[in-house]
Amino acid sequence: MRKLYFLLIVFFISSSLNALELKGTFYQGNLIVGKTEPNSKIFIDGEKVKVSSEGFFAFGLSKDRKNDVLIKVIKNGVTEKITKKIYTKEYKIQKINGLPAKQVTPPKEVYERIKNDNKLIGKARSVDSNLIYFLNKFNVPIENSIITGVYGSQRILNGIPKSPHYGLDFAAIEGTEIKAMLNGVVTLSEKNLYYTGGTIIFDHGHGVSTLYMHMKDVYLEKGQNVKQGEVIGTVGKTGRATGAHLDIRLNWFDVKLDPSSVLNLK
Ligand SMILES: [Zn+2]
Repeated sequence: MRKLYFLLIVFFISSSLNALELKGTFYQGNLIVGKTEPNSKIFIDGEKVKVSSEGFFAFGLSKDRKNDVLIKVIKNGVTEKITKKIYTKEYKIQKINGLPAKQVTPPKEVYERIKNDNKLIGKARSVDSNLIYFLNKFNVPIENSIITGVYGSQRILNGIPKSPHYGLDFAAIEGTEIKAMLNGVVTLSEKNLYYTGGTIIFDHGHGVSTLYMHMKDVYLEKGQNVKQGEVIGTVGKTGRATGAHLDIRLNWFDVKLDPSSVLNLK
């Protein structure tokens, strides 16, 4: 009986691998890239995701997600269901003091501006293009730089608990060149957003986007293509920043992911 059970498990694993390959571990905040047979349909938690002509797809796991991921593959009318468990992460608590009060709790006059900024960012992050750049390896935007802020840390600004930090911070002197982590298309380029200052968002396909903020110089315009390693701007302290640094973000649509999950950090 035990042997039969074992054989069944082996059969199940090998048959599901034929229909579906998944790259990435199911940690909270991670980007998962998959490959299925072309002309298959993929549903993640019941929501259909884009499948490329070669069968590639992507999705992300939110920071606090705990429930299993339900993956459904439909090919020629045959449905296969796969359930994946989530690995949880421990997040840090980060206290920052000495911020100008208006940066911690914005004054009423800027509410409209913030609302407008969020609209622009939200629109850029909702792009669902056919690009498949997300399949490639990401490179660090600044080499030999120290990481001073990580994904998921709870922020306490001037003693007031705020929403968690979703970025990865690289310490660098003002004016340091920033390189594109991956090929992409610019979907937002702004010099002065309230929180994020000089900001660029790239679309990498299927809802995967990256965002660079607090930039001093912004060299690209909306609609431009960028190649991995190309200089896109320089490090600054624009927007809400205590000092010069680069803060990068990784998103799958409106789900904020952990940039360190796709970077090879030393
Ligand atoms: Zn940051």
